[in-house]
Amino acid sequence: MSTAWTYNPQPPRPDWGVRAPALKKLSLRQPIRAAPLPVEASMSLQIGGSIELPAIVAPGDRVQTGQAIARNTDGMAVHASISGRVLAVGPQRAPVASGRPVPCVVIRAEGPEQMHGSCIPVNEDLLSPEEIRARVAAGGIVGLGGAQFPTARKLTPGVPIRALIVDGAECEPWITCDEVLLRERAGMVIEGVGVMMRALGTDHAVVAVEADMPEAHAALDNALGAGGSGGIGIAVVTTKYPAGGERQLIEMLTGDEVPAGGLPRDIGYVCQNVATAAAVGELFRSGRPLISRIVTVTGGGIAEPGNFEARIGTPIRDLVQAAGGYRAAPHRLLMGGPMMGFALPDDDLPVTTATNCLVAALATELAPDRPEMPCIRCGECVQACPARLLPHELLTAVRRNDAGRLAEFGLRDCIECGCCDYVCPSYIHLTARFSAARGRERSRA
Ligand code: SF4
Ligand code: SF4
Repeated sequence: MSTAWTYNPQPPRPDWGVRAPALKKLSLRQPIRAAPLPVEASMSLQIGGSIELPAIVAPGDRVQTGQAIARNTDGMAVHASISGRVLAVGPQRAPVASGRPVPCVVIRAEGPEQMHGSCIPVNEDLLSPEEIRARVAAGGIVGLGGAQFPTARKLTPGVPIRALIVDGAECEPWITCDEVLLRERAGMVIEGVGVMMRALGTDHAVVAVEADMPEAHAALDNALGAGGSGGIGIAVVTTKYPAGGERQLIEMLTGDEVPAGGLPRDIGYVCQNVATAAAVGELFRSGRPLISRIVTVTGGGIAEPGNFEARIGTPIRDLVQAAGGYRAAPHRLLMGGPMMGFALPDDDLPVTTATNCLVAALATELAPDRPEMPCIRCGECVQACPARLLPHELLTAVRRNDAGRLAEFGLRDCIECGCCDYVCPSYIHLTARFSAARGRERSRA
């Protein structure tokens, strides 16, 4: 494998994006707290909105923590996050943007917690890249940055990879789950990075953090030791939304642009979130599959905001209780941040692997709902767009339902970041329209 690869240690300041208030201090006052074990856990069998794993348990079965409860032909599995008895297998309410029920396995806790016998540590040095990927799939590891893409698939690029880019640039306001993870568990992140480099056959990785994350940077430095270690570097990117976008980060760090309609692997990179790296590290170090994640619980409506390690399937209302309950009735309960998140109808929904943040936002913390006005073609949205699109032209094409123009203006490269909405002086809801149009395109394909 070539060793001739460098990244930009001082990435350029992007001319796109927005500087939104960070609002992160609220949830950074305390270290990660363990959320109580749920009495009932509803585990989604849907991954990333398009993959559904068939259940391999039935109502009445006893399961142990870490036991596979669903598995597909790729060897990808979902695991029981608590020990108990299976109550139901079938569609349940879940925190998804569509609001539609998703297939789930519901487990009721019973007796003391017992880890399943399959949860044993493995030394990755003794495994081939194929065996590492198979173990990552069997461990149920998915992208924890929000997209839930199966990690084993990303570790199977089918082309030589120059470098692994590890995304810790948590740019969206309010969200701090990656930052606390880096502050407290940088060593686990680095272990996971090492495993993924081995699976990809690359000698190079770079972990990116934002300029306003000095504690995370220091923790990574400590974990790596003086002068870096094992081909892993650290890069500090400017604090600007959406610096943590996959394409945007790759371009800033390497100077290389992911082609329109293409993937990072097309230009020799694979990008993984830091929480995904930590989950891989944990899987190999202790044998624990993906049964929990760190969730930021924050917003002016929460009494004691912070970050919680929650078992997958934990009811969101339990997490809110763990954070001291509601201080005031939230105007909106968001999953994700204010830019890319979506409103939940209530808190009677389970944590999924996509639940990186819950924001109980007061009315004063959100942009007021103002009536849309006509586009004045000011170009603010063009300046802000990190995908270098022409949002006002896309808007015209959406309004005319002109599929040809939507393709011509690059709708498929829209990352639905919300920057165009944020800057639009006419308060036009551009992103929601682009998201709906992309959904229509996907269902036609
Ligand atoms: S920012 Fe709004 S008003 Fe200005 S060009 Fe874009 S869509 Fe039109
Ligand atoms: S939502 Fe899409 S069009 Fe709007 S700024 Fe983001 S990438 Fe550009």
